[in-house]
Order: sequence, then C-alpha cells, then structure tokens
Amino acid sequence: MKEDYYDILGLSKGASAAEIKKAYRKKALEYHPDKNPGDAKAEEMFKKAAEAYEVLSDPDKRAKYDQFGHAAFEGGGFGGGGMNMEDIFSQFGDIFGSAFGGGFGGFGGFGGGQRRVKGSNLRIRVKLTLEEVANGVEKKVKVKRKLQAEGVTYKTCGTCGGSGQVTKITNTILGRMQTATTCSTCGGTGQVIDHRPSGADAQGLKVVEETVSIKIPPGVEDGMQLKVSGKGNGAPGNGVAGDLLVAIETEDHPTLKREGDNLHYDLYISISEAVLGSSKEIDTVGGKVRIKLESGIQSGKILRLRGKGIQSLNGYGSGDLLVHVNVWTPKELTREQREFFERMQSDDNFVPKPEKSDKSFFEKVKDMFS
Ligand SMILES: [Zn+2]
Repeated sequence: MKEDYYDILGLSKGASAAEIKKAYRKKALEYHPDKNPGDAKAEEMFKKAAEAYEVLSDPDKRAKYDQFGHAAFEGGGFGGGGMNMEDIFSQFGDIFGSAFGGGFGGFGGFGGGQRRVKGSNLRIRVKLTLEEVANGVEKKVKVKRKLQAEGVTYKTCGTCGGSGQVTKITNTILGRMQTATTCSTCGGTGQVIDHRPSGADAQGLKVVEETVSIKIPPGVEDGMQLKVSGKGNGAPGNGVAGDLLVAIETEDHPTLKREGDNLHYDLYISISEAVLGSSKEIDTVGGKVRIKLESGIQSGKILRLRGKGIQSLNGYGSGDLLVHVNVWTPKELTREQREFFERMQSDDNFVPKPEKSDKSFFEKVKDMFS
C-alpha cells in the first residue's frame, strides 16, 4: 500500500499551497543527502517527499490525486521506481535556496554542472634504512608525470556547450520530465582539446620528469602507503592532477631488530667481562652509544634504554632499545685456563644462587610488555 502524499509531508487534506511548499522544504532539508551521507533510508524519505510535492504542488495533479488517490497516476510517472535524485534537484532546486551553498553543481554525486576530471595516480616505492624510519626523512625522488604540454589549449565542448551534461526531455502524463546525463563527447569536463602540440597525447598531455620531495614521518612500517596529493598525472582542461602514492619498504638493520616501536640488540660479552664488569659500545638509531655493565651481570639480562627505540607514528613518544646480554663461553681453553676453571668448580662463588632480581627469561619477557 502506497503511503498517502499528505501523510508523507505531515499535512491535512486542506493544506494551502504555501503550507505544502513549507512542509516539503522542511522534509527535504531534513533528509537531504548532504546531511545524511550514505543513509539509504534518508534518501528514500527524500525521494518520497519530492514525489509527494511534485503532485501536491501542481493544482491539476492534486485535484486528480484528491479524487482518485494513487490510482490517478498508475501506468506512468511515479507508478514504479519514483524519482531519481537528478530529477529532484533539477526540478525543485529553488526549494532549497541557499541552504546548501547555492548552486547545485556542488552536490556530491548529484546535480548538474561540470565534472572536474582528476588525473591518474602514480605509484613509486621508497626504500628506507632503520635510521631513516626512526628519525623520519625527506626523500627526493624522480617521477615521470604526464602534464599538460606547453602550448596546449582547450575549448568549450560543442556538444554540451561546456556544461558537461546533456539534457533529455520526455513527456509523461505528469508533464515534462527532464533528465541529465554526462556528455559523452567531453566526458563531463565541458572542454575538448583545441590545439595539440607535437609530442602531446590525445588529451594534450606530455611526459615530464620531475623531482618530488617526499616527507616521511618517523615510525612508518614496511608496506605502508603515503599519499602526496596532486603529484600524480595531470588532467586535461581545468582538471586536477592525481596523487603520488608512495609504498614504503624498509631495509633490515645488521644489528638492530624492530618490534613495534621497540628495538632489540643482542650484546655478547666474555665470561671475564661478565665477572669483572665492563663498558661496551652498542648500535642505536642515533649512532653508537657506550653502556656500562655492572660486575656480576647475568647472561640473559635485558637492559632497557628508554626512548632509544622508534618514534611513534602517532606522535606519542618513542619506543625503547632493549639490550639482551649474552655471555660468550669459550669452546677451547689453554691448559692453564682449564686448570683455573677446574679449581673453581668446587668454589662456592661459582655455584648458581639466582636471586629474585635475576629473573628467568619468561618473567623478563612478561616484564617487557607490562
Ligand atoms: Zn561536452
């Protein structure tokens, strides 16, 4: 059962022309696609209101509707699929006035007017070292872009007169119906090529090599894609250039391993360094750093250098550098060394006595993520 037109607009049967217009304006603004993007229900309501207004605002149609109801329009006009958005905007545009910024060219996918053509996107890969990832970097890359050739000119499309659309008028029992479609001659741009310089393609574009500077923020990851707006291929006429899409590739570091924003470094020390304590140089993304190892340090200990990891991509602080201490055990010994260690086997100092601070590997891992 089709909904009553008066009910749709919230009106009584005796509503005046001014009341009908006011009621429709209210509904149309409420369910306008610009206010309800992607809302199918709102779009449906928007269309229903337009259909009701189309009939009730016309004295002849209203009289027929009052007498025969929806049966008056069966077999034509709104009997089936109702109105499409383009019809609504082209017929009732004045209802909206300046509520949505005036002209209808600005409406999302609807309405008339020229279509600004966007050039195609270009894709490149950029390889980064771990240091560049950690600190951010500005890369200059050579890009082959298609841009409007020097001396190219465009003229107004003769088919659509520059509007980018062709209008078709059909007669229905409700009167003239106007539908607009994209002009096939100019593809909706409203312009066609006038003078084409040598070396330019059919759209008047020519390949040029350009150096583009790409700012890469710290903390990016392998496989991410950055977009440099407007650095892709150009477009003919008054179109806008596409984008340059930059795929990030990261190189492995010889000694540092990344895990999220944290870095891991495996440090190997000798038994005597573990026993006596020492100072060792380690790699960081900011260059070499010397760290102190206390005497009696245990193999498997993890030293945390706060903030020496990767700067977070979201801008909130940096990760840490975790130094894993490994005690290197010699495989071959001189007779003297062997005798020393044999003597130490019965020495109480060499008997393992793990304390709470010498946490097991699993406890340390748990600690790292807490
Ligand atoms: Zn055209």
